[in-house]
Amino acid sequence: MLLIQDFDLSSATTFHLPARARWMAEYDSVDQLRSILADSQFATMKRLHIGAGSNLLFTKSFDGLVLHSAMKGMSTVADDGESVIIRAESGIVWDDFVQHCVDSNLYGAENLSYIPGEVGASAVQNIGAYGVEVKDLIVKVEALDTFTSGMVTFTADECRYGYRDSLFKRPDLAGRYIITAVHYRLWHTPRYTLDYGPLKELREVTYLTRSEE
Ligand SMILES: Cc1cc2nc3c(=O)[nH]c(=O)nc-3n(C[C@H](O)[C@H](O)[C@H](O)COP(=O)(O)OP(=O)(O)OC[C@H]3O[C@@H](n4cnc5c(N)ncnc54)[C@H](O)[C@@H]3O)c2cc1C
Repeated sequence: MLLIQDFDLSSATTFHLPARARWMAEYDSVDQLRSILADSQFATMKRLHIGAGSNLLFTKSFDGLVLHSAMKGMSTVADDGESVIIRAESGIVWDDFVQHCVDSNLYGAENLSYIPGEVGASAVQNIGAYGVEVKDLIVKVEALDTFTSGMVTFTADECRYGYRDSLFKRPDLAGRYIITAVHYRLWHTPRYTLDYGPLKELREVTYLTRSEE
C-alpha cells in the first residue's frame, strides 16, 4: 500500500496539469481498500477514485483523499469452448488487457485497442471505439459499496450502460461504488466488428498483427 500526503497530481492525469491532493492512497487488495476507508483520519474527507487520469482534469488542488487501485490480477473464470469469461482487476491498464486477449487468440476487444485508461474506469465510462462498446463484453462488475463496506456485483444490465455512461456516473451514486474487478466475455473464434467507417475497407485486406503494424 502507498500512502502519500500532499500528493503531486500532475503525474496522475494525462494532461499533467499542476495540482495537489491532500492525500493519495494506492491499495493492492480489497482488504487494504477497506482499511483505508475505515481509517478515522480519512472518514470525513472528500474522496475521488482515479484510474490513469485520462478522463480527468484537476483545475485546482483536491482537498481530500485520492484513491488508486494497484490490483492487477487476471484469470479465466469460465470457458464453455465457445467463449471465455476473464476476470480482470481494476488497476490493469486497459490496453494490457486487450493485448492479453489478442495474444491468447480471444476475440471481441480488438476494436478497443489503445484506449487510454484502466480496467476499473472502462466499466464506469463504457469505453467505445470503432463500433464496439465495452458493455458488449462486460458480464459482471465487482465493486465495494462504500456505504456498507460490503462487496456487490452488478450484471451488465444493472450497470445501465449508455453512450459513455453508466449507473456509476449517476449523480446520486457518484463515488459510492469502487470497482474492483470486471468480468468480460471474449470469443474463441473471430467476431470482428468492421461496420464502422473506414473499417469497412478492412474486409478487403489481410489482417495485420500488432507486430506488423
Ligand atoms: C488521447 C485519448 C484518447 C481517448 N480515446 C477514447 C476512445 O477512443 N474511447 C473512449 O471511450 N474513451 C476515450 N478516451 C477517454 C478515456 O480513455 C476513458 O474515459 C477511460 O475509461 C479513462 O480511464 P482512466 O483509467 O484514465 O480513468 P480516469 O480518467 O482516471 O477516471 C474516469 C472516471 O472513472 C472513475 N473511476 C476510475 N477508476 C474507478 C474505479 N476503480 N471505481 C470507480 N470509479 C472509478 C473516476 O472517478 C472518473 O469518474 C480517450 C482519452 C484520451 C486522453
